[in-house]
Amino acid sequence: MTSNDIQQMIKRAIQAKDSAYAPYSNHPVGACIMTENGQIFAGANVENAAYPLSRCAESTAIGNMVLGGSDKDDGARIITKIVVVGPGYEACTPCGGCRQSLREFASSEAIVYVCDKDGKVMLETDFSALLPHSFGPDNVKEVNPQ
Ligand SMILES: [Zn+2]
Repeated sequence: MTSNDIQQMIKRAIQAKDSAYAPYSNHPVGACIMTENGQIFAGANVENAAYPLSRCAESTAIGNMVLGGSDKDDGARIITKIVVVGPGYEACTPCGGCRQSLREFASSEAIVYVCDKDGKVMLETDFSALLPHSFGPDNVKEVNPQ
């Protein structure tokens, strides 16, 4: 991936953040994910009056990937890059629920870029550092072989 690709993803995440629906938290967040086959999908948080049922930016980006991916078998559902842009200058890292949602699709080598509201990268790490010793699809296959 070139730095141009990262910049494009950051731009898409900022645009998504600016479209977020966050009237309750006033904490708009944008995310952008890249799949193994090079497609990118953005997402923004979408809240509702029942706060716990709100959706995070990473979650809506995953939904867009699942619905919009070109092909299920050519890496269209394997996440290799994740950009998250928060509303300020504190690192807006993925919440626990999103880490587990990302775990379903992200490769262990996926790179996570957490940016401030202006798109400056504040944290760059690999996904396995965000969710060490994680529980994922392989754990379930052990008892439910397909
Ligand atoms: Zn989240």
